[in-house]
Amino acid sequence: MRTTTTRGRVELNAVGMTYTRGGIANQALAPSTLVLEPGSFTSLVGPSGCGKSTLLNILAGFVTPTTGQATLDGAPIVGPAPERGVVFQSYALFPWFTARGNVEFALKRHPLSRSERRDKAMHFLAAVGLETGADKYPAELSGGMQQRVALARTLASNPTLLLMDEPFGALDATTRQTMQALLLDIWSREKTTVLFVTHDVDEALYLSDTIHVMAANPGRIVDAFHDGAARPRDISVMTDQQVHDRHRILELIHKPH
Ligand code: ADP
Repeated sequence: MRTTTTRGRVELNAVGMTYTRGGIANQALAPSTLVLEPGSFTSLVGPSGCGKSTLLNILAGFVTPTTGQATLDGAPIVGPAPERGVVFQSYALFPWFTARGNVEFALKRHPLSRSERRDKAMHFLAAVGLETGADKYPAELSGGMQQRVALARTLASNPTLLLMDEPFGALDATTRQTMQALLLDIWSREKTTVLFVTHDVDEALYLSDTIHVMAANPGRIVDAFHDGAARPRDISVMTDQQVHDRHRILELIHKPH
């Protein structure tokens, strides 16, 4: 059973982003207002180009919005910070470090002895089920294992907000399901607020408390679906509400806006 948490409240107040290139303005995200409650799991779904990554990158601090303000626990988001961990589809591991070395790197800014850093890195590798692969280099690991290392590295920074951009998009279906279950297991223990971007409506339904559906031109949120299905959830069973929501969400994604 998850206990309540008070950290990790995200607010977007009329946050919008217009990219301008060669004098041409592209409104990637119309001013959007959104709240992520502490410890909640929220997904963004929608067609390509509807601003999902832009919204996530604003929260990561990689992109400065052209309107409005995003805050985490009341503090304006300015630039990247370890309290906002990001996991991408491409694992972005250092190829010259082992799995453990990659996680240790995330712990560099902590005042730890070498052995403490090693122990902590092993703790996070164990949390993602990768104790035995600790001394392997990324090239020696499967895609799923590399994504476990990337997740362990991000968790090692003890984020209050976990931002995930199509993290399992490159994995085969079986590995993907294993990673989804692993993520929910970690989330239920860490009580981190999660924002998860995906193309896959079934993935969003299995994982989320709330799904925001986005549309393009301009990028914007068009609807939200709240799912109170009990946890832990069975990936092979959809509740009646999930079946209903799935239908509505697919309709929204495919209808012209
Ligand atoms: P999604 O993640 O839903 O596919 P994005 O946020 O990546 O959508 O993109 C939204 C829109 O913004 C698209 O039209 C895309 O071409 C544009 N865009 C994204 N990033 C940039 C950038 N760095 N510079 C210019 N345009 C961008």
